[in-house]
Amino acid sequence: MVRRSRVATSASRKVLEGKCYCGDVGYQVEDAFLYAAYCHCSQCRRTTGSAFKPFAGIERSKLRLREDAGKLLIVGEDNGHDAHCARCGSLLYSVVREGAYVHVALGTLVDAPSIRPDKHIFVASKAPWFEITDGLPQYPEFPD
Ligand SMILES: [Zn+2]
Ligand SMILES: [Zn+2]
Repeated sequence: MVRRSRVATSASRKVLEGKCYCGDVGYQVEDAFLYAAYCHCSQCRRTTGSAFKPFAGIERSKLRLREDAGKLLIVGEDNGHDAHCARCGSLLYSVVREGAYVHVALGTLVDAPSIRPDKHIFVASKAPWFEITDGLPQYPEFPD
C-alpha cells in the first residue's frame, strides 16, 4: 500500500511550506505524509466552509510553525484540536490521535506534496448537495 520511490535520509527530505490566508501563520512540514483523504464529515465542512476537506496525516513532530508565526486560535484540547490563524481564521491543521499526529489542511500548503488524497471518508455524513464524481474508494467513516 505504501509506495516508496526512493530512500530518503532525514537530511535530504523535502520540506513543504504552508501558510494561512492572511500570511500571519506560516509552517513547514516534511513531505513525508503517511496518508491523505477527502473528509466529508460535518466538522470538516464547517471548519472549512467547503463540501469536504482534503487533508494529509503525518507525525506531529514533522510539522513546525515558522519562528515569526503569529498567534493561533486553538479550538479543542491539547491533544485534539483544530489550529486556525487567530487573525484570518484559516484552518491550518488538526492535532489528532492523542496528539501524536496532525492532519494538515492541504489547501494551506504553498508547495505541492508528493502524496495525493486517494479516498473519500465519512461519506455517510456527506453534504447532500455535493456529488462525488471521481472513481476513488468511498468509506462511510474512517477506514480501518
Ligand atoms: Zn492568517
Ligand atoms: Zn472530517
